[in-house]
Amino acid sequence: MALEDFEADMMRCSRCSDCKFAPASQLDEDWPEICPSIARYGFHSYSAGGRFVAGLSFLTKRVGYSPELLDVLYKCQLCGACDVACKKDRELEPLEMMTEFRAHCVRDGQTIPAHAKLIESLRQNDNMMQRPRAGRGDWARGLGVRTLAEGNVEVAYHAGCRLSFDSAQWNIARSAIEVLQRAGLTVGIAGDNELCCGGRAYEMGYREPLAHYADQHRKTLAAAGVKTLVTSCAHCYHAFKILYHKIGKPLGVDVVHVTEYVDRLMAAGRLELTTEVPMEVTYHDPCHLGRLAEPWIPWEGEEKKVMNQLVLRDPPKEFRRGTHGVYRAPRQVLERIPGLRLTEMARIEGYSWCCGAGGGVREAYPDFAAWTARQRLDEAAGTGADALVTACPWCIRSLEDSTRQTGATIDVYDVIELVHKAL
Ligand code: SF4
Ligand code: SF4
Repeated sequence: MALEDFEADMMRCSRCSDCKFAPASQLDEDWPEICPSIARYGFHSYSAGGRFVAGLSFLTKRVGYSPELLDVLYKCQLCGACDVACKKDRELEPLEMMTEFRAHCVRDGQTIPAHAKLIESLRQNDNMMQRPRAGRGDWARGLGVRTLAEGNVEVAYHAGCRLSFDSAQWNIARSAIEVLQRAGLTVGIAGDNELCCGGRAYEMGYREPLAHYADQHRKTLAAAGVKTLVTSCAHCYHAFKILYHKIGKPLGVDVVHVTEYVDRLMAAGRLELTTEVPMEVTYHDPCHLGRLAEPWIPWEGEEKKVMNQLVLRDPPKEFRRGTHGVYRAPRQVLERIPGLRLTEMARIEGYSWCCGAGGGVREAYPDFAAWTARQRLDEAAGTGADALVTACPWCIRSLEDSTRQTGATIDVYDVIELVHKAL
């Protein structure tokens, strides 16, 4: 797709502002907003509808590249809440348009310095953490886990850049391995040879790393003879399962988030949790595991206008509306932990509020990321829960950093840490 392919959507946007709020049926008066960008910057351009207007102005050459345009395009987490809200009653693709607009910028050399630095490091070191490649597998020391190169493994575990290099989060990856081992599985990792998924670069507008890493991962998994790839990282999950499919490079294995896999193991009676974890928690849906993880639906066809009004697509196009994300599995896992009580926030599932880390915002606009996270922490604290639990290391880093910076008091955990406690 190209930016030009969304010109009709730009014209069809009715400027209704539905993309800014939860729908009336789910509106909570304390937490009505779903779009961090418009909530923070308060000007229509910083919303999906506003970016449709900006796109049209750009394509019709009424505006060109400027610092202001890049500010509008990149102060957005690409979290997808607007997309779900818009598609409730319409057939437009605001998220795809905004993603394509960034790729257009990068192709024209209009980049954000913070992102350009990261991509340079990615090209040299194969990770998004600006760290040397060596030591990527250190988190797994002492776990007795095999490498994929050694072969003879039932399940491959992908830690991802954040979990591999953020040593404060190694407990999450280590817990995942120990939980899988408790279920009797032989788990393999790529260790120091693990590579980035390319997903975060793609969201920043850089397309070629995703295709490159899709090829590399496919080769590694095929050589290891693995049929199942498990990850704890919602961003990697989204890249492996959705984006690789979108660009026509599926991995050819079953891609499973660790919460889905644990849910399956428990349903099959292969994993039992027996230790009480007496806590009240609330669950934060990571955007990339929730609404953005809805399976990709390819479509090629043409649009026809009937009586110069009605748009018909031939063949009919099925839209991703955020209803088939991974919402149930993490909640079912939490509900099976003895002694634990789950209480929900107002904005959940398709209308979940972002943690702030997505779309390159954490790297380019850390104050915006921290503000976004603080909104979520306050929403979580308002439920009375002891802890905010989620299922993505990028969410945890964003929420924990904001906790430290803003003095919020609620604890933050990954689901798998609580599962490990309950073994
Ligand atoms: S993007 Fe969709 S929800 Fe937002 S103003 Fe346009 S039509 Fe309305
Ligand atoms: S993707 Fe998220 S931050 Fe960006 S416009 Fe949509 S709701 Fe707002």
